Amino acid sequence: MKRDTGLIHGARGKSQAPLAKTVGPPIQRGSTVLLPDAAAMADYSQVSYGRQGLAPHRALEDALAEMEGAAHISLFPSGTAAVTGPLLAVLKSGDELLAADSVYRPTRRFCDGPLKRFGVTTRYYDPSLSPDAVLALATPATRLIMLESPGSLTMDVQDVPGIAKRAKARGMLTAIDNTWAAGLLFKPLAHGVDISIQALTKYVGGHSDVFMGSAATADPAVARMLKAGDLDIGWAVSPDDAYAMLRGLRTMGVRLERHGASGLALAAWLRDRPEVTQVLHPALPGAPGHDIWKRDFTGACGLFSFVLEPGAPKAVDAFLDALELFGLGYSWGGFESLAIPCDPQFPVRSSPPKFSGPLIRLHVGLEDVDDLRADVERALDAYRASI
Ligand SMILES: *Cc1c(COP(=O)(O)O)cnc(C)c1O
Repeated sequence: MKRDTGLIHGARGKSQAPLAKTVGPPIQRGSTVLLPDAAAMADYSQVSYGRQGLAPHRALEDALAEMEGAAHISLFPSGTAAVTGPLLAVLKSGDELLAADSVYRPTRRFCDGPLKRFGVTTRYYDPSLSPDAVLALATPATRLIMLESPGSLTMDVQDVPGIAKRAKARGMLTAIDNTWAAGLLFKPLAHGVDISIQALTKYVGGHSDVFMGSAATADPAVARMLKAGDLDIGWAVSPDDAYAMLRGLRTMGVRLERHGASGLALAAWLRDRPEVTQVLHPALPGAPGHDIWKRDFTGACGLFSFVLEPGAPKAVDAFLDALELFGLGYSWGGFESLAIPCDPQFPVRSSPPKFSGPLIRLHVGLEDVDDLRADVERALDAYRASI
């Protein structure tokens, strides 16, 4: 071999000693996959290209499939792509989509933008409707119902099993954005939903430093559509990111217990504060959606919202700016506490929610809950002083 050939082929395949067995999978980086012989090049049942996923992707998919009770997992480069990918994989021009009015805003953006351009019509329904009332909105063109429960910002809990059962009976598919339950606290596939989606970016990653999303299905026909969509559209995620997600998944159970307990403690404390008129936390007894939550969920995460007594926008700013431990950031699921104002996101909704005052969403992180309570108390004092 001459110099440049040696640089490329030198020592390739030499070290065939079995790899040391680590707890996590090896991080295989690869676009090209070398196949053993010509016959293998015609065997499409094997991984023949890196985009189909390598060791860390397989390990993550297998772990997610176990958690979701799924026969197939598709991985996407973000949670948003895990919503848009399945919609593209199952919908066609002329189809109609029913979506909860409380869906994540980028989901709505995709429905009202690209999907509309490609001839798919989306109609939004009030997430407080009964399953029969939701199904009454369906037409023969309705192909899919897109759920999110608890809904983004307003935490509306839907009767997901009831909707999924009725949709199936009428030949419609259902998909749910299950990010709040992280695939663990509610099991959509066991409740009859066809496609269970989550932004792994949130609790599975758990450290606010990596993007990914997953779509799970137990139905072989839906799995074929998702797989075809992955191939046709060209989604791929990096092996390093897949490794990071798998690492996050290993500790998610204990993290969620802490997020859930601290969140519920803060929610109960807020309910008794004079500056707060309503707490929207499905796991809080007496809060909206609690009965369905209790029937269908096995726990709560750290995300909930609450309504402040009426006050001017500058008072909301004073609340947010007085927070020291809660960061101001549009995400959640990481170890850190975050807060956002919700009202600026409502005008896009078909029936914007009406609360008696401003709505704030908190993500309760893993900090000491007494410190978090003191932080919110400081912010409530600032709010009251600027009303
Ligand atoms: C964050 C989020 C997503 C999108 O995840 P990204 O990885 O940020 O694209 C989807 N759905 C919900 C409910 C989310 O909160």
